[in-house]
Amino acid sequence: MEALFETACRKIDEEAEELRSLSHLIWSNPELNFEEKDSHNVITDFLEKRGFRVQRNYVLETAFSAEWVNCGKLSWELPHIMVLCEYDALPEIGHACGHNLITELGVAAGMGVKAAMEENQGLVGKLTILGTPAEEGGGGKAYLIEAGAFKGVHAALMAHPAPFNIDDPTTLAVKFVEVTYHGKAAHSSVSPWQGINALDAAVHAYTGISHLRQQIRPSGRVHGIITKGGTKSNIVPDLCKMEYTIREDTLANLDLLCDKVVGCLQAAALATGCTVEVEWEAKPYADMRNNETLVSVYQRHIERLEPGRQAHKGEKEAFKGSTDMGNVSHEVPSIHPFYYVGNELNHTNEFTALAGSEGAQLFTLNQGKAMSMTCIEMMMDKTLLQRAASDFQSTKARQD
Ligand SMILES: [Zn+2]
Ligand SMILES: [Zn+2]
Repeated sequence: MEALFETACRKIDEEAEELRSLSHLIWSNPELNFEEKDSHNVITDFLEKRGFRVQRNYVLETAFSAEWVNCGKLSWELPHIMVLCEYDALPEIGHACGHNLITELGVAAGMGVKAAMEENQGLVGKLTILGTPAEEGGGGKAYLIEAGAFKGVHAALMAHPAPFNIDDPTTLAVKFVEVTYHGKAAHSSVSPWQGINALDAAVHAYTGISHLRQQIRPSGRVHGIITKGGTKSNIVPDLCKMEYTIREDTLANLDLLCDKVVGCLQAAALATGCTVEVEWEAKPYADMRNNETLVSVYQRHIERLEPGRQAHKGEKEAFKGSTDMGNVSHEVPSIHPFYYVGNELNHTNEFTALAGSEGAQLFTLNQGKAMSMTCIEMMMDKTLLQRAASDFQSTKARQD
């Protein structure tokens, strides 16, 4: 298997300059969730040029699938491994989550596996690079799951840049909600008693939820903003809007917490005489279930490439964010390691600079290589794939 690993890593080194340019092109033209049209086009062009069988606009306008298959003779099912790319950015601060780097390493991993398959027909399997839009809100992966994109997939892999290395991170299940209070406008001085104050309802709700926060589980997170609070101080506000994000360690605990939040929202409507509309964003994100077998194979490869990586090791519980890769991890054996690219925190202007910097390149290409070798090993070793499947089933039995 060593020769296959060497071929994959050599290919990634040969294409390093092209990969860096692809990443930089995405980074310099940040596009928001579901609007990643240019990114979709440059990535699919890149993969098509390198011989992958590409389906553009796969399920979603800005999603894609790129495949390479070696159909050898197998006495068992053809292994199908997926590497996932993300390429959406954030409003105003651009690629502050470094999703351009996720694409770079995903494409690198796929190219490495393809090169190894071309050199050795004994490496039998199907490799798919899946382009998944809208991670920063929207949940592109949830739509791809619904459309059956993960049917028959034996493993799904991605890695995410961060200020630390965490190979099996805990991420939280999350739901997003938009709240609208409707009241009645009136002159605030001449006839305030004729008004119904929608801003008061929002303030009540905000305060109620802040009080609720004292009694929620340590894993719970509730955070919100008022997005519309009236038009002028001498008009009783008749319309007020809020946005909340609610997180918990599992989908079941998330539902319990959401019920309590809704209680606060309704109580505020009752207290003020307003009506309330509660609109859930269609797709909740599930918590991440790291597949132990996949994590251990990945770890072995990345540790060989980066012997000093312990210096940047993060606490497993350190990252209380969420990802729609969680949803994928409830469908098929999955990993989503965070990898160190520098000391800045995600979602800051400083991280945007880091994601476009030369310094992030070596770490990102190492991830591409580790992912590539993990894919190859999983395709070559039937028992590993079986072990990943049984890990997946036992976690499911424990947590569903
Ligand atoms: Zn992010
Ligand atoms: Zn991200």
